[in-house]
Amino acid sequence: MFNPLNWLLGLFSLDIGIDLGTANTLVHVKGQGIVINEPSVVAIDTRKKNRVVAIGAEAKEMVGRTPAHIVAIRPLRDGVISDFDVTEQMLHYFIHKVHEQNLLSVPRPRVVVGIPSGVTEVEKRAVHDAAISAGAREAGLVEEPMAAAIGAGLPVTESIGSMIVDIGGGTTEVAVIALGGIVVARSIRVAGDEMDEDIINYARQKYNLLIGQRMAEQAKIAVGSAYPLEQEEIITLRGRNLVTGLPEAIDVSSVEIREALSNSVSVIVDTVREAIDETPPELIADLMERGIALAGGGALLRNLDVRLSEETKMHVYVAEDPLTCVARGAGMILERPEYYRETLTTLQRGSTVH
Ligand code: ADP
Ligand code: MG
Repeated sequence: MFNPLNWLLGLFSLDIGIDLGTANTLVHVKGQGIVINEPSVVAIDTRKKNRVVAIGAEAKEMVGRTPAHIVAIRPLRDGVISDFDVTEQMLHYFIHKVHEQNLLSVPRPRVVVGIPSGVTEVEKRAVHDAAISAGAREAGLVEEPMAAAIGAGLPVTESIGSMIVDIGGGTTEVAVIALGGIVVARSIRVAGDEMDEDIINYARQKYNLLIGQRMAEQAKIAVGSAYPLEQEEIITLRGRNLVTGLPEAIDVSSVEIREALSNSVSVIVDTVREAIDETPPELIADLMERGIALAGGGALLRNLDVRLSEETKMHVYVAEDPLTCVARGAGMILERPEYYRETLTTLQRGSTVH
């Protein structure tokens, strides 16, 4: 039914889509695109009852540069909310930041938050309530693979089956979606962070070289791959020699980095194959026709699409702008009534989240 008040509110209010990722939080605002893209990191002061001292980029900067009682935490690191309070404050901070940038929008915003599909009912409720207490007039929750699929342009509300593989920092989520629902879902804790660990372990075991997480991530992004490269490359790893205790730089090849990543990549490949195994035959036919879309930062690992394609015998492709799929998808849910009706996840006790 047409409600003039809602219509008027809609003209002036903000529609905000949030990707509460394990590594990065992104905020999409209707008509403006991605307005916030910051690490999901919160710095707390352990001497002052864990008081929050910084959030996002500022918090990440502080890591390792501050006294020991300031510690940085990633409240969603494993795809579950390890700390309600901190997650709530983070959400609060990001919603407020957008609201501040848009002082003209008097009515409170409508918000859709993408959450890892592993979170429990209690956690869902906590995120919903956090969004409301941060000033949202309506807060919907969407499971990240659903939002990623929407952001990747897949026809999620149609009867056609689509497969999305979202490789983030803490988790890889594989889902087959049709008619606005998730038909098959797999979530594992092997993703970008684990790949960084693989490189750290490799350098330690093979070269007695202790490298930091940042160095490992740089190496992964620069020369990491899941399948032989046309032109193999070299990267210099800098760290501390564990025997001499002195700083050391060692050149390693992309072949070695690929070897280091091979276990994690195999686990991801196996998970995709298991999901395909579980998919009803009618939907398999759709997947064969339309292929498998990759999203999340991990989708950028070179030749992962080629490797997956070889192992699944399907067409596999990286979605456009894979790092922003979830945030853009969450934003699109607010723009399309059929998405809003069909793709949001519900809270228990029969109550939907709006
Ligand atoms: P989340 O949704 O869990 O917050 P993101 O989708 O933002 O995670 O992806 C972050 C992960 O993607 C990090 O582990 C990062 O190292 C990794 N990543 C980003 N760019 C690349 C790249 N070019 N190659 C491989 N991994 C990448
Ligand atoms: Mg993500």
